[in-house]
Amino acid sequence: MSCVLVSSIENKVAKLWQRFYCGVSLHLMTKEATASRVELGELLPLMEEFYTIQGEGAHTGTPAYFIRVGGCDVGCHWCDVKESWDAAIHPPTEAAAIVANAKKYSKTIVITGGEPLMWDMNHLTSMLKAEGLNVHIETSGAYELSGHWDWICLSPKKRMLPKPRIYDEAHELKVIIYNKNDFAFAEEHASKVNGKCELFLQPEWSVREKMTPLIVDYVMANPKWKVSLQTHKYLNIP
Ligand code: SF4
Repeated sequence: MSCVLVSSIENKVAKLWQRFYCGVSLHLMTKEATASRVELGELLPLMEEFYTIQGEGAHTGTPAYFIRVGGCDVGCHWCDVKESWDAAIHPPTEAAAIVANAKKYSKTIVITGGEPLMWDMNHLTSMLKAEGLNVHIETSGAYELSGHWDWICLSPKKRMLPKPRIYDEAHELKVIIYNKNDFAFAEEHASKVNGKCELFLQPEWSVREKMTPLIVDYVMANPKWKVSLQTHKYLNIP
């Protein structure tokens, strides 16, 4: 089985099936039942979950429980979580178990990835909302929006542009600045979001010393934007 992610649900499910064949969960359910439960979002490829401080964007400084869902085929060359890309290496996990863990730690839950919208988020987010939790997502928007969200952070990527609907729904637009061309990319997407959407420019970590001064100048000249830094990395926390 190739490790290259493809966008069709059939192939994502096939990869998860293979994991089941090799793993410990096969005896619990049939192949068909597994596929059905993945499609419904009842099982999700969980990469990691952890309680920390939201380091970026509008909720910087807020304690939050992060749920990192595996799977991404956007392919940003500077991605700092490339180990998330292959969904098949992350165990299909009961959404109910994820919720049971999350609610022990925080009222604010951040679903991130990978690209979480590769999966149906309705089931997981319905359960989180039923527990009275504030549910946030960090997404490239490259897949159709699913789920019930209190906060949508849209971080568009050049390699796979957002689906149109999310521009109306986003609460926050966070554009990663890797080079000077990214300012024009940021403006292009700022012109598409709704009027209440907060706008952030964030230096890509590996070029932060070069790009942060440019972002500071840009934001002072264009004050509809704010600066976002990856403060969790400065704090050396997850
Ligand atoms: S969309 Fe996010 S997870 Fe996917 S490659 Fe880009 S930075 Fe990495």
